[in-house]
Amino acid sequence: MLLQVQNLQLSLKRAGKFISILDDVSFQVQKGETLGIVGESGCGKSMTALSIMRLLPDKAKLAGEVKVGSEVISKLSKKKLEKIRGNQISMIFQDPLTSLNPLHTVGKQIEEALILHTNLTKKERKDRVVELLKEVGLPRAEEMVKEYPHQLSGGMRQRIMIAIAMACRPQLLICDEPTTALDVTVQAQILELMNKLKQENDMGIIMITHDLGVVAEVCNRVMVMYAGKVVEEAEVNELFQRPRHPYTIGLLEAIPRVGERKRTLGSIPGTVPSPQNLPIGCRFADRCKDAMEICRQAQPKTLQLTDDHRVACWLYDERREDLKDDITRNQ
Ligand code: SF4
Ligand code: MG
Repeated sequence: MLLQVQNLQLSLKRAGKFISILDDVSFQVQKGETLGIVGESGCGKSMTALSIMRLLPDKAKLAGEVKVGSEVISKLSKKKLEKIRGNQISMIFQDPLTSLNPLHTVGKQIEEALILHTNLTKKERKDRVVELLKEVGLPRAEEMVKEYPHQLSGGMRQRIMIAIAMACRPQLLICDEPTTALDVTVQAQILELMNKLKQENDMGIIMITHDLGVVAEVCNRVMVMYAGKVVEEAEVNELFQRPRHPYTIGLLEAIPRVGERKRTLGSIPGTVPSPQNLPIGCRFADRCKDAMEICRQAQPKTLQLTDDHRVACWLYDERREDLKDDITRNQ
């Protein structure tokens, strides 16, 4: 197993109080597979990624275990972790313009990653920069090393970010909404590139997105998050064909079909509850058409429906009948 995340709990300090941002998040990523993490904004997708990398504010409280290969990286000092970041694990973000330095040439920025993480000589680095630009499908690589980010299109800049992330041949690439800012054609090209790089390098990818179209394009497995919890996970075809959690079903219904006006994830009525104000029961209850009394009383447990499908929803929990009796008796 490439990555194992076990019972991640994250709290952040807001207005003097610790509030829960991630609750009991567990998942795995294998070599050569892409795991999609989907959900609306504010559900904890990015926070999950930042917790793995431990790129969190100072006042964050993080518990749980993160293992890369056989190494428990959640126990490492910040210094040792820095070695792993960018080396074994790389990350790319939505907006390449804010991540790139406008004052440095493309070549210099890729070279910096190589200086940080490899012992290559100057000449070897120069060659590797050109090689990386070619690997990410950029034309005129030799000239492009001398160009500045503003001279390039959005799609080209995202390719540069991918080149930087790939500079040290990471085992795991975490992508946070990498194509959200790009137009559809360029988005498709970038996704194709990611598939190619995954195959060539046998790496694992975590693809954070709110776009189920992106999931269908590149993911092998999908994990759905809602309000800081994992509510469903399944192999990609299984999830599209047999979604179980009412939230997943809502997300799938919100995908625009051909000829329809584009709808967004927002088409599930209501909003994600704020972490300051989480319900005691199921966090989706206020928006759920199927909510039962028990859903407001207790959080659903995660149930393994098949080997590759798990869900956290009372609808599938046989114990709900017994528990319902308990609740009425106690009232
Ligand atoms: Fe809906 Fe209840 Fe399932 Fe939550 S646990 S998603 S409220 S049915
Ligand atoms: Mg995000």
